[in-house]
Amino acid sequence: MAKADKMDEISKLKEQLFFEPKNGYDLITAEEAAEADRYARAYIEFLNTSRTEREAVKNAIRLAENEGFTEYVPGMELKAGMKIYKNNREKSLILAIIGSRSLAEGCIIEGAHVDSPRLDLKQNPLYEQDELAFFKTHYYGGIKKYQWVTIPLELHGIVALKNGETVDVVIGREKDEPKFVITDLLPHLAADQMKKTMSEGITGEGLNIMIGSVPYNTEEKKDRVKLAILSILNDMYGITEEDFLSAELTAVPAFDVCEIGFDRSLIGGYGHDDRVCAFAELEAILEIENPGKTCVCILADKEEIGSMGVSGMQSEAFESFMEDLCESQGVRLRKCFENSFCISADVSAAFDPNYPEVAEKRNACMINYGLGVNKFTGARGKSGTSDASAEVVAYIRRIFAENNVVWQLGELGKVDQGGGGTIAQYMANRNIDTIDAGVPVLSMHAPFEVVSKFDCYMAYKGMLAAYRDN
Ligand code: MN
Ligand code: MN
Repeated sequence: MAKADKMDEISKLKEQLFFEPKNGYDLITAEEAAEADRYARAYIEFLNTSRTEREAVKNAIRLAENEGFTEYVPGMELKAGMKIYKNNREKSLILAIIGSRSLAEGCIIEGAHVDSPRLDLKQNPLYEQDELAFFKTHYYGGIKKYQWVTIPLELHGIVALKNGETVDVVIGREKDEPKFVITDLLPHLAADQMKKTMSEGITGEGLNIMIGSVPYNTEEKKDRVKLAILSILNDMYGITEEDFLSAELTAVPAFDVCEIGFDRSLIGGYGHDDRVCAFAELEAILEIENPGKTCVCILADKEEIGSMGVSGMQSEAFESFMEDLCESQGVRLRKCFENSFCISADVSAAFDPNYPEVAEKRNACMINYGLGVNKFTGARGKSGTSDASAEVVAYIRRIFAENNVVWQLGELGKVDQGGGGTIAQYMANRNIDTIDAGVPVLSMHAPFEVVSKFDCYMAYKGMLAAYRDN
C-alpha cells in the first residue's frame, strides 16, 4: 500500500473511531448564527427586566399569556392542547401544555431556577453611622464577598404591609434613578486588609450598603440622616421603619446586560445562573402546540439556598399541581412520575483559560461548544448527586443528534476541587429520570457573569428538542 493511501486510511479510521468535540461555530451555518443572535437579543431583554425571582415569574407569565396560557384554577376541565400555568406565591411558576396521551405515560419536564445570588436586606436594615445612612444585608446564595463592594447596586422587592397590601420597590434600574454601593478601603490604608485571605478580606457583616448622607433639618443631633432617609421612603412608598420587618428587599448589581467582545459573541450580565436556562425552556415550551405527552416547564425558586421552602423544588407544591393534572385523568401521580423524563436545566462551569488548574480539560465544558450536559454534579465521590443513568444519557444523545443540537458533556471541575448541586436530585428522588443540562458560565455567581450566545441558543434548541420528542 502506498504511503499516501495508508495515511488516508488512518485518518478515516480516526474519524470513525475517535470522539472529538468541535467548536460550535464549525458546525453551524451563517443563518443559524444569525438566529442565535436574534435569540440572544430576546434573552438580553428578559434578563435586563428579571432581576429577582418575582420579576422573572412576572415576565414569564406575561410571555406565556401572549402565547395563550391561562392561569390554572383547581377543578377546571383540562383538555388536550390546553396551556395552563400555576403561579406559586409570585416566586415560582409551573407551566404545562396538556398532551393528547395519558399522563400515565409520563410527561416531559424541564426545570430551571429563577433565583440568583444577591444581597438581601436584613429585617432591621436601616441605621445611621457617623452621619451616613446604611442598610445591613444578609447575602443569599454562594458569593465571593469581595466582588460585591464598589459596584453600583439597585434595589428590588416588596414591602408587605400589615393591612395586606404590598408595595413594589424597584429603584436603580433606570438610567436616571439613584444607585447604591458598598464601599471598600483605599489601597493606601489597606495594608492590614490585604494580608487577609480573600474570604476574610470582606466579611458578611461588612456588606453594608450606603444609602444617603443629608441630615434632616433639626436641632436634634442623633440619627438626622436616618430620619431624612425614612422621610424620603415614606414619601416614595408610604412605609415606616417597622414595615421593613415584613419586607423582602434585595440589592442586585446595577449593570445592564450587554454584549461582550469585539465580535459581540458573549453576553455579560447579572443572573445568568439560572435565568439563562429558565429563558431557554420557557421559549421552548412557548413554541409547543398539541404535544403527545404533557409538557411541563418549571421556574423554581430557592435553588441557590438548597431548594428548600414552599417555592423551592423540594416543596410539595409541585406534587400538588401535578396531582391535580393526574386526577383530572384518573391517573395516579406516582405512575406519571415513574414514566416521566426531566431535564434539570441549570448552568455549569465553563472552562476558564485564566484558571486551567481547577478543571480537567478532557471533561470540562468549553465556551461555544454548545449545551453543557452534566451526568452528575455533587462533590468528592459524587456525593449529593442523582447521577443520571447511562440509558438516560443515551436518550438525550439521540434526541440532540436528531435535532442538530450542539452539546457537550462535562464535569464541574477537577475531582475533589469542589462541587455543586442543582434541582436534579430532588426531581430524581421523585422517581423521575433526570439529567442536568445547561449553559456553561464564566465567573459563575459573580455580579457580572458571562455566557456565549451560541451556547444560549443551543440550550434553547436542546430544550425544544426534548419537548418535541413525544
Ligand atoms: Mn444554578
Ligand atoms: Mn448557582
